[in-house]
Amino acid sequence: MKPFIYADHAATTKLDEDALAAMMPFLTGEYGNPSQPYAFGRKARQALQEARATVAACINAEPEEIFFTSGGTESDNWAIRGATFGNAPGRGIVTSAVEHHAVLRSCEDAERLGCPVSYLPVTEEGVVTAEMLRTAMLPDTGLVSVMLANNEIGTVQPICRLSAIAHEEGALFHTDAVQAVGHIPVDVKELGVDLLSASAHKFNGPKGVGFLYVKKGTSITPYALGGAQESGLRAGTENVASLVGMAVALQKNCLAMDKHTSHIRQLEELLIRRLRSANVDFIRNGRPGGIPGNLSLSFPHSDGEALLHRLDLKGICVSTGAACDTVSTQISHVLKAIGLPESYARGTVRISLGKSNTAEEAEAIARALISILR
Ligand code: PLP
Repeated sequence: MKPFIYADHAATTKLDEDALAAMMPFLTGEYGNPSQPYAFGRKARQALQEARATVAACINAEPEEIFFTSGGTESDNWAIRGATFGNAPGRGIVTSAVEHHAVLRSCEDAERLGCPVSYLPVTEEGVVTAEMLRTAMLPDTGLVSVMLANNEIGTVQPICRLSAIAHEEGALFHTDAVQAVGHIPVDVKELGVDLLSASAHKFNGPKGVGFLYVKKGTSITPYALGGAQESGLRAGTENVASLVGMAVALQKNCLAMDKHTSHIRQLEELLIRRLRSANVDFIRNGRPGGIPGNLSLSFPHSDGEALLHRLDLKGICVSTGAACDTVSTQISHVLKAIGLPESYARGTVRISLGKSNTAEEAEAIARALISILR
């Protein structure tokens, strides 16, 4: 394969080598069903228990509070549906205008089923303030869902303050932490959340697995009916190998988080410095100190889609910030919500640097952008 620069870590990350090594036995010889009582099944069950305990420790939760899922989308869907119809049927939801579609579509679905939903605005930096939430809370609000870190612009929300307001009003609090877990410290007790979603492939784990944290005593409806897996709330034989890999990858990232963060912040600064010293006109979206490596850059009178393809021709993978998804050319709901002028929004790319990127790569990305924009 031709050498290339991968700068799209918010989309997905490379599987960690130790995670792969830990997965291999369960993809080959150790194929027992963890629900079976004989020794061969017990080995798989034991591996799942260990994975659950490791994941729980990484976010300061108890193992019984971790429910394995197929990833961020399922965790978000389950949290919204499960809390809305389990805890307080018919009560309303408050969410934000900048959530991932896994949350927004779930809220729209709840709305169709008769549950009122309100969408909080955000500041220019993409922040939901305590005042905004306080104003939106109604006596019948049963659930508040605000993401911990935004996938497009990297803004980290003041979740502690928001969850306290939700609880004062008797509502549950869910946070989509898919972009945060494994990248910034996440402590469910400090955050004060009842439900938290995460996805393994965003933190060097395998694709197709994730988890939902459900605080002890929180009532949610089951996600899938059938066997007794995941305490009877999410039936189906577990993806043992991938769940084992997820736990290894998460633990590894959490242990080296400070080191990765300072490396990635240096790369961010280098790239921005290079663009500035070449007098490139751009806006950096989001709030300073957001998710490490997330650079949502908007260039006036440019076309984000064209930038992405021209960078691709130079072997550089980034994402466009203007399209809702790969087939849409509309301005994303996040860029609209922060009030970015259309002339900038259309020329947006999201560069997301990761721990494996180098200073040479950051320089190369800056050079490529400068030459394309000229
Ligand atoms: N939530 C956020 C904030 C995300 O960034 C993503 C993925 O991009 C998801 C949810 C969905 O996660 P998954 O790809 O594991 O379904």
